[in-house]
Amino acid sequence: MNAIASFNDCSEFVARLRALESERSDSKVKARRKSLSPQDRHAIFAKTGGKCHICGGQIAENESWQADHVFSHSMGGAHSLDNYLPAHSLCNNYRWFYLSEEFQWILKLGVWLRTEIRKQSRIGRIAAIAFLAHERIRVARTKDAAQRAIT
Ligand SMILES: [Zn+2]
Repeated sequence: MNAIASFNDCSEFVARLRALESERSDSKVKARRKSLSPQDRHAIFAKTGGKCHICGGQIAENESWQADHVFSHSMGGAHSLDNYLPAHSLCNNYRWFYLSEEFQWILKLGVWLRTEIRKQSRIGRIAAIAFLAHERIRVARTKDAAQRAIT
């Protein structure tokens, strides 16, 4: 099964997304993250000239970034320097643990929904309202957590 598979109805699509999620949870290998030295991080950053390997954008000097495992460590990827590339923390936090088919579905859904929002179709307007409400809650939670961490 791959990302161009066709589904007869919505319930088949939902079932596939759930199956992928469950496959991912079952295959997770508990691996400890090895800490990287400043020299290691510098070498990893230099591999792409400081560009995020996920979105392709430049990582600014004061911006948070992570050394991302090319082959996810949760799936058994190695901890050697060869297996790391730099990524924005935001990009990496949204991406790193998905199976490739799941990630392809997420991209396709995101691109489709963005188009619907831009066209201001009925579903696009509903989704934009719901998404913005979701974002407000998410950002407030993040701020609360950051506040708790420093108090
Ligand atoms: Zn990025």
